[in-house]
Amino acid sequence: MSTTESTTLTYDVFVNDPPPQDGVLPNGEPKLFSPMASTLIYGTADAVLTDPGMTTDQARALGDWVASKGRNLTDIFVTHGHGDHWFAAGLLAERFGARVVASAGTIAQMEGNAATRSLLWDKIYAGIPPSPVTAVTVPDNRLTLEAHELVIAEVGSTDSDDTTVLHVPDLELVVAGDVIYNGVHMYLAQPAMVGGFGPWRAAIDKVEALQPRHVVAGHQNKALDDDAARTIAETREYLDDAEELLRTENSAIDFFNAKIERYPDHLGRTVLWAGVQTLYGVRDHPEEDARRIVVSSWL
Ligand SMILES: [Zn+2]
Repeated sequence: MSTTESTTLTYDVFVNDPPPQDGVLPNGEPKLFSPMASTLIYGTADAVLTDPGMTTDQARALGDWVASKGRNLTDIFVTHGHGDHWFAAGLLAERFGARVVASAGTIAQMEGNAATRSLLWDKIYAGIPPSPVTAVTVPDNRLTLEAHELVIAEVGSTDSDDTTVLHVPDLELVVAGDVIYNGVHMYLAQPAMVGGFGPWRAAIDKVEALQPRHVVAGHQNKALDDDAARTIAETREYLDDAEELLRTENSAIDFFNAKIERYPDHLGRTVLWAGVQTLYGVRDHPEEDARRIVVSSWL
């Protein structure tokens, strides 16, 4: 809650480049991960950073940007358990003497992602630093930044289980992690695990209910703005469209081709392809272990 004495908050977004990757997509183009966004929310002295990225190179680039803001970084907040959002947290926590914070559900997911590093992440990306889970919860899921409240809102299953967003009421801002996307293909594997798109849609409704003006998507095209109404509407539309294609397209490749035809300017086709292979893999082979399908969809 803002008081008359409190200083004004500001936020700024750094979009990191994807790490190098081998392999090609079905259409022949080189595989490349999606751009990854980190948000710095800051007052006159202190700052909070979200989703600190995955590799040592990304941590260096992000850290230099944070340092250039000249604030004391108190906390690093992680929106959900996927490694691309936090494997580099330790490097930044050490560089700035900051605490790593997440919800209890996200911390459990972080443990799971750390445990599957060698089977998945390290097979695709070099340069991921040691990633012990040091995140802690905060009372009532609330952080304070120079007398302003930052609220962790738990929104459930979206592109992974136990996802959260960070609501900054005094900025009318939601840092949305992977609940909302912005000009980037969405990772669609998780709806296969939870039997459909309903939970994700419910999470989008929860973000909308916070009445943000600005939404920072965890994966975004940096040429686009942070308009909440647009990004929320486009994320819903993308899911509606995915559900339709799942009915009309007979294979992962047909779905992939139809999606890139409908969204020619969207970034992140590698993540689209991984997610779509899981969607069809789980649908067509319900007898198989879904977690194995997830892993093989990336490799
Ligand atoms: Zn992500």
